[in-house]
Amino acid sequence: MNVHYFDWAATTPIHELALQAYAQSARTYRGNPSSLHTEGKDAARFLATQRQMTASLLNVRPRQIVYTSGATESNAIVLESLLWKRTPGKVVMSSLEHDSVLQYRRLLEKMGFEVVMVNAPGGYVDVQKLASAIDEKTQMVCLMLVSNVLGTVQDLASVSRMLREHHAKTNRKVHLHCDAVQAVGKIPLDLPALGVDSASFSAHKFGGPRGTGILYLAGDTVEPLSKGGGQEFGLRAGTEHVAAIAAMNAALSETLAHAEDSLLRGIRLRQVLEERLSHHDGITLLSPAITSDARTSPFILTISAKGVPSEVLTRVLYDEGFCVSSGSACSNNTPGKKNHLLVAAGFTPDAAACAIRISFGPSSTEDDIMELAEAIGREAAHLQKVTRKH
Ligand code: PLP
Repeated sequence: MNVHYFDWAATTPIHELALQAYAQSARTYRGNPSSLHTEGKDAARFLATQRQMTASLLNVRPRQIVYTSGATESNAIVLESLLWKRTPGKVVMSSLEHDSVLQYRRLLEKMGFEVVMVNAPGGYVDVQKLASAIDEKTQMVCLMLVSNVLGTVQDLASVSRMLREHHAKTNRKVHLHCDAVQAVGKIPLDLPALGVDSASFSAHKFGGPRGTGILYLAGDTVEPLSKGGGQEFGLRAGTEHVAAIAAMNAALSETLAHAEDSLLRGIRLRQVLEERLSHHDGITLLSPAITSDARTSPFILTISAKGVPSEVLTRVLYDEGFCVSSGSACSNNTPGKKNHLLVAAGFTPDAAACAIRISFGPSSTEDDIMELAEAIGREAAHLQKVTRKH
């Protein structure tokens, strides 16, 4: 069966250049970068050039780049660091956050922190609402850049400006952490302009290998999660996966080099998808319709098929060769967690229960998109008819 892959927000196909970079560096750099012999020193030098490359691609300094096993770990390092604070304070999170952030709520509250959730109606956090949750007890704000479910883009630059003003007025610094996993290749990305204190990235979301990621740290002190060998400036102990880092850089470089064209193409494909879906009754967009104002990434679209549970439509589409997702693949293993996020974004529980996420990428084609829209319309209409009869 020919598989049409529309689950790029869950994971992307690995890029050929990333595979080549992996094979070449794994063969060439056999030593442990912490070893003192020549093989080790060669690996350490190579790792340093890779760090320079990551930093220059992201327009930051090498010292600000910490390699991790992925965004779940990057998020965990920042959030667990809070536990080292002398007095537990307040943490503000958007309801859009990925489970690797949201699930810290329980631990933080148990440890005496106040966790304030800020809802995101329609997928957007209101900066004024968020500002009203900030007070002298606030220690951290977690706000993702691109929603992995709705594709909406948050105004991080305004939030960081607001927090700088708060700092100037009260002499209290609030750490702004940003899960930027879904941003790479999906919107123009300028880390220094965003003004965040930390950001998480995951290689497998942009054509790199799984199990590899980045934690960007602008300057605030954080505590390591894993302790031991002192690698990664003492922030992430464990032998560095040098070949995977090289593969990630190859994918990052390739993705960013084509980002502008890819974005324009993505907007065009999204317009086709929306137009084709609009011919089918009972299908509504939960993500905002695409515009040119960059407040939505074209590559992630969540829709709802009236009366057809997400799991059923996802399954039927898969039987026809289309891979889409019911909600976020990342929460598929967490019972009871599915689509809570959509309800918090103001959608009805019925609409949320019937939501499917379509996500695509640079190699998706217009023909594929049209076939998908056709299959969704046809199958949803069929299932709606069947469920009405019962
Ligand atoms: N944050 C977001 C927004 C994601 O979409 C994902 C995807 O799974 C993650 C974090 C976790 O990333 P990783 O798979 O690298 O742990």
